[in-house]
Amino acid sequence: MKNDKLHAYIENLIPERPEFFINIEAYAADNNVPIMEVAGMEAMLQFLRIAQPKKILEVGTAIGYSALRMAHAIPEATITTIERDHERAALAQQYIEQYGKKEQIKIILGDALEVEEAVASEGTYDVIFIDAAKGQYKRFFELYAGYLTDQGVIVTDNVLFKGLVAEETIESKRTANLVKKIKLFNEWLMNHPDYHTVILPVGDGVAISKKR
Ligand code: SAM
Repeated sequence: MKNDKLHAYIENLIPERPEFFINIEAYAADNNVPIMEVAGMEAMLQFLRIAQPKKILEVGTAIGYSALRMAHAIPEATITTIERDHERAALAQQYIEQYGKKEQIKIILGDALEVEEAVASEGTYDVIFIDAAKGQYKRFFELYAGYLTDQGVIVTDNVLFKGLVAEETIESKRTANLVKKIKLFNEWLMNHPDYHTVILPVGDGVAISKKR
């Protein structure tokens, strides 16, 4: 986000996480594994505590950090999470077992755009959390929105992409292309006739879309 001082202030106020999570955060930082920013994570967890979903679908497991944090915060919820990277999924499974959450979190290994059948076999979901390839957000949303319960909510991370969505010029062509896709997604989402959406400028930008 643009206001770095304020961002740092909020992050410093967030209480320490259990050591297990701190260790995963450190591993992610050391090995360039993208995980949700702490402030964004806290905002999403707070929403989940209020909503108390029974079933959550996550698109983008990485090494299981957000899935484990959700499982810890909402012990009644089961989480189905999709990851296409074999190594990351294997490490996520390892962390999930170490933390004793094997019964609560199920990983589907594969490309989210190709594993619809496995996702559908688990029924419908109260919350869908989209946190995978940013250029594909609209496709993930459209593909899985049909598996959302009537009162369901879709949470999408990274919708402000480090504040770049508000920049007029971006040097790198590749980044500019990605920013363009995110902006188009945001415009599409904010004007979606079937959802009320709010974008929270927290973490990397979190959109919360509630079925109308
Ligand atoms: N939600 C995780 C967390 O906060 O701990 C972080 C997820 S990381 C930002 C995005 C992950 O999505 C990466 O590990 C990447 O391999 C995975 N991914 C990207 N596109 C995907 C796709 N089409 N299908 C499945 N996984 C995908």
